[in-house]
Amino acid sequence: MDFLKNASIKTRLWVIMCATALMILFSGAIGLTGIAMTDNAMEKTYKNSLQPTSKITRIMQLMDENRVLIMLGLQQDPKSPHYKIQNYESSSHTTAIIKNRNEITALINKYKKRKLTSEEQDLANLYIIARTQYVNDALMPAVTALQTADYQKANKILLNKINPYYQAANLQAANLLRKIRETAIKNYEDASERFILIRNTLIYGTLLGILFISISATLLIRSIVRPLNRAVLHFKQIAKGNLDEKISISSQDEIGQVLSELAAMQGKLKVMIGELDRLASTDKLTGAWNRRRFEETVETEIDRLRRYGQRLSLMILDVDHFKKINDDYGHPIGDQVLVDLSNTIRSSLRASDSLTRWGGEEFVILCPNTTASIVSKLAERLRKKIATVNFKEVGCITVSFGVAECGPSETWEQWLHRADEALYLAKSGGRDQVKTIKRPPDFIEKATTK
Ligand code: GH3
Ligand code: MG
Ligand code: MG
Repeated sequence: MDFLKNASIKTRLWVIMCATALMILFSGAIGLTGIAMTDNAMEKTYKNSLQPTSKITRIMQLMDENRVLIMLGLQQDPKSPHYKIQNYESSSHTTAIIKNRNEITALINKYKKRKLTSEEQDLANLYIIARTQYVNDALMPAVTALQTADYQKANKILLNKINPYYQAANLQAANLLRKIRETAIKNYEDASERFILIRNTLIYGTLLGILFISISATLLIRSIVRPLNRAVLHFKQIAKGNLDEKISISSQDEIGQVLSELAAMQGKLKVMIGELDRLASTDKLTGAWNRRRFEETVETEIDRLRRYGQRLSLMILDVDHFKKINDDYGHPIGDQVLVDLSNTIRSSLRASDSLTRWGGEEFVILCPNTTASIVSKLAERLRKKIATVNFKEVGCITVSFGVAECGPSETWEQWLHRADEALYLAKSGGRDQVKTIKRPPDFIEKATTK
């Protein structure tokens, strides 16, 4: 069974079809052999029983006829009361007797040529002895007497020899006939038994074959349909976009190959989707998050603030006089400044903070689980650090920061607007500084102190 489990569907189909064909062939062979055997048995019964039976019956009939012919021959005696009724040639009876005798001899010779059983042989010998005695000592002397018109002698032979010898020979012939009949009945019974055996073998063989084919067809269908259904479920999951489900490959057949290709495809798809997601959510120039990614994340963080009172703050930062950098050094150098600036910022952030390029030279840093005062300090530290960086070709740059903490009933747009106001204050206050906006009016102190 293990072999079939590991074999391909093609091999499994071939094995079961060949097994079925072999069973049909086997049943056919048994059927044909049975027919041939029954046919042989019938032929044997005919040859061994019917043919010899008809020969012996004919012999007995001829012997009987000869006895009658002797009696009819005696009617030719002129002294017989029936003499006048007789209308035959005087030699016609004796000629017929000799003809019959010769036919009997020929039939006996023919019969002896057959393959006889030892019992048949013994009975045949007894008959031949009795018949020889009958012919030599009774029949032929009576014929001679009739031919010589010695009717008295013929009558005497009839009474004293023909009748007893005839009966003795007839008895042996009857014995032989009975033996042949017995053999025939036995042959017939043997043939019947064999026929019943073959018939039963065929019936049970056919039933067994049907059972075998049904079981193997069920197993085969199950071994194909089950993994196919599993494969369909995997396809459905992938179609739904669920790429995390483990695809187990339990067989090495064609379905196993489909599943392993599917698993490879799922893995590749996952990597590609991950890459696409990354590309769709990051800024191409700086590698920072884009607005789309920020919006997705900020909703979750605001939800945490509302549900669990987890504090949430952000800073918005803008490069001072960036237009001048572009004007003085060209756009590509301006780009490089943006790349270097985002790397500097990223290296200073905590793992939970995230950097988003909001547009142009403006960035937003989202700081979950953090109060405005802490973010304010972080911004100050960042401002100082940026001021120390020597940007390629450009040298030093400065950055202005606006900080605000999210209120529980605020939308992120309102919150960002307040941070932008803080940034405006920083710009208008002379740039290169951090400004923090005051808390929103609905700020709940209970939530913030948790
Ligand atoms: P302020 O201190 O008031 O912020 O002055 P600013 O010059 O930085 O402000 P402004 O908004 O007037 O100029 C921003 C400039 O940034 C204008 C635009 O050409 C430039 N800029 C926006 N996006 C990019 C970019 O991707 N690459 C480069 N090199 N420059 C950009
Ligand atoms: Mg600017
Ligand atoms: Mg700007």
